[in-house]
Amino acid sequence: MSGRELALEIPDEGKMMALGGEFARALVPGVIIYLNGDLGMGKTTFARGFIRALGHSGAVKSPTFTLVEPYEFPEVTVYHFDLYRLGDPEELEYIGMRDYLERRSVCLIEWSERGTGFLPPADLVINIERKGQGRMVKLLALSALGKGLIESVSESPSQLFMHRE
Ligand code: ADP
Ligand code: MG
Repeated sequence: MSGRELALEIPDEGKMMALGGEFARALVPGVIIYLNGDLGMGKTTFARGFIRALGHSGAVKSPTFTLVEPYEFPEVTVYHFDLYRLGDPEELEYIGMRDYLERRSVCLIEWSERGTGFLPPADLVINIERKGQGRMVKLLALSALGKGLIESVSESPSQLFMHRE
């Protein structure tokens, strides 16, 4: 299916923030995004760019110990998850995962593999790998919502897409 996948070479932290910002501008309420990749690949950097682009000016840190951090905006609430320290996926029941899935919320989920079986399915999976000094970011849409996001971001005239593979 065309438009379902996109691979982008993102050379530095600033461009990773900008990529997050592009997705925030294309935002659809209700979208679930998994951010996959090893420690230090730039998952939080992407989330920070996303959340800042919506108008949050404070810090955006990986919610490693709290598991989730909400960011409220007039149109939407963004829940930024980091499940790295989740002992058992069942714990997601206790933090009220279901409450995060209302229609007007967006979930950005780092370390989604630790929540297998207790997370909603992703609309978009973002996989980040090292590529030289920078990163290779592979986007995979798993729903019509995710496909729409990839399409609107890839149509953007931004500088970001000079390194399309
Ligand atoms: P993660 O959340 O995946 O553990 P972070 O977002 O905390 O990773 O980023 C780890 C480091 O990677 C930071 O020092 C950040 O500056 C750097 N980084 C982020 N994106 C890129 C990129 N596209 N190219 C090079 N370095 C990057
Ligand atoms: Mg992180």
